[in-house]
Amino acid sequence: MLTIICGCMFSGKTTELLRRLEEFPTPSILAVKHAIDNRYQADAIVSHAGKALPAIAVSGAEQIQSLLRGDLEIVGIDEGHFFDDTLVDVIRSIIQRGIHVIITMLDRDSWAEEFPLAVRLCSLADEPVVKHALCARCGARADRTQRFTPIIDGSMVGGPESFEPRCQRCWTPPPEPPPNGTLGVAH
Ligand SMILES: [Zn+2]
Repeated sequence: MLTIICGCMFSGKTTELLRRLEEFPTPSILAVKHAIDNRYQADAIVSHAGKALPAIAVSGAEQIQSLLRGDLEIVGIDEGHFFDDTLVDVIRSIIQRGIHVIITMLDRDSWAEEFPLAVRLCSLADEPVVKHALCARCGARADRTQRFTPIIDGSMVGGPESFEPRCQRCWTPPPEPPPNGTLGVAH
């Protein structure tokens, strides 16, 4: 079974992931995150609200397969947008072993364009969950992330100093054009 929790930044995706993982006994959980995501702690999934769960940082999707154990019931993957397309096949193979996968993911990049990987995983998911934030400007329902800092490469990581949630009306595109072949990744 695959559950995907997607939405903009500050929509509570990681909080929702941690809440769901906590329903399982600790030995049956494998929690992973991409090594690029070292905002709070390298060895834990941490929500913006400060909740944490020990996690293994991996440098790519294939590495998740080497961490699978016979007693696993659930694999939690935080910030799936940091992975490349190989994640799809890795998730498929985990599900085939009867293990439930829950993944959080930004569904739009800094230009509010949908991430192809998010679209693909949503179509595979048994349970797609879309989270929303409140617009930092007007308080309406926010479904996109406003970026304040210049975009230097496609995989910049940042926190509240660099991003805030906005509704469609209050959001403005970043001044830089989207680079070819890369995405302006918020988290
Ligand atoms: Zn607004």
